[in-house]
Amino acid sequence: MAATPRTVIEHCAIATVDADGTEYTDGHVVVAGQLIESVGAGPAPAGLERVVRRIDATGHLATPGLVNTHHHFYQWLTRGLATDHRLFDWLVALYPTWARIDEPMVRAAAEGSLAMMARGGVTTAMDHHYIHPRGAGDLSGTIVAAARSLGIRFTLARGSMDLGESAGGLPPDFAVESLEGALAATEETIDRHHDPSFAAMTRIAVAPCSPFSVSTELLRRGAELARRKGVRLHTHGSETVEEERFCVERFGKGPTDYFADTGWLGPDVWMAHCVHMDDRDIAAFARTGTGVAHCPSSNARLGAGIAPVPDLLRAGVPVGLGVDGTASNEAGELHTELRNAVLVSRLGPHREKALTARRALWLGTQGGARVLGRADAIGSLEAGKLADLVLWRMDTLAHASIADPVAALVLGAPAPVTLSLVQGRPVVEDGRLTTVDEEALARTTRSEARRLARLAAGE
Ligand code: ZN
Repeated sequence: MAATPRTVIEHCAIATVDADGTEYTDGHVVVAGQLIESVGAGPAPAGLERVVRRIDATGHLATPGLVNTHHHFYQWLTRGLATDHRLFDWLVALYPTWARIDEPMVRAAAEGSLAMMARGGVTTAMDHHYIHPRGAGDLSGTIVAAARSLGIRFTLARGSMDLGESAGGLPPDFAVESLEGALAATEETIDRHHDPSFAAMTRIAVAPCSPFSVSTELLRRGAELARRKGVRLHTHGSETVEEERFCVERFGKGPTDYFADTGWLGPDVWMAHCVHMDDRDIAAFARTGTGVAHCPSSNARLGAGIAPVPDLLRAGVPVGLGVDGTASNEAGELHTELRNAVLVSRLGPHREKALTARRALWLGTQGGARVLGRADAIGSLEAGKLADLVLWRMDTLAHASIADPVAALVLGAPAPVTLSLVQGRPVVEDGRLTTVDEEALARTTRSEARRLARLAAGE
């Protein structure tokens, strides 16, 4: 039997982000097929068979591919709007536009979002998609197809909203689904697209949007559905003081107690934001293994506050990083979240136990893999894991004078990506996407954004 084709990467610094934080100043990675075969110091072992590609990575840092744990792809078409609003006002301003999306818009927005992240070293993406206008077409299938065409590993969190304004919720009635419709469509999406295998490129999660846009019944039955199907659960939680107030007024308890009562704490749940958490909330997350998607740029953009990430980590809560939707984080890439996670944590009351650059890299790789339930397969450079890795160029003007490559990567300007592999397959080469024409995509996203703006304006 012919040997598996190998790619050999040598002469680079390596941050493996394994459990011991192993790093090499000059090392090698051997990729065999879709797996990492070996990682270590010095050049690759001699005598390897069927080496189809040998890369001299002098001047580079190799890391695991970045893992994004919270995003809303459709927002790619509504960036730069409501730029001075806080969360609830921002949502109310944007819901009417979002409710006009259709399949071609969602396809363009998904490709734009995925391309921007891939260019910046993301190898595992996620999309929390919760807007499903009547007659909009097969939006879940469209998003999954976009991720497949770009070659990015992907979790679609099939979102939903069923609590319109007339029932006491925040979104307008025309933007929500029925309870039964949302549950049936979510189950169908799992049946069609969820792959539970080790090397899965597509997974599905059950993801009602937030306490102020979904009914208690949808939360409860959504949790039951996820556990019956063996998939993960995702939602927004404890993002703002307004959400806290909404929960106390409507349910007589804060968001974490409400989630506990509806089946939404557990090792199969991860929640976006978790800014307003007291010690009791943090202990509940730690006790149940509930994960957190930390989104520092979005939290700052919407004035939500500073998440207590050092306290969450100290308690043992799984934490990853999230871009969040690009209507509240126009940059749309994860690298700045590493940097902002460090900077923002030092502005809060946590300065003496603030995040380090290495901890931020861990959050963006291993932490994210854990939050998505994929730590067995991705998140670190170790033999036997899937070959999702990035070669960052560190010898240009932007980084060359910084001796520590991890500090350069996290604290410096976004580093150029020379190579990004997903499952051993290149998705970025010399800073360019291999699977999509960036200029054509820029034109398509612009025209679809304009079409959406015209529709929303009633033209
Ligand atoms: Zn979000």
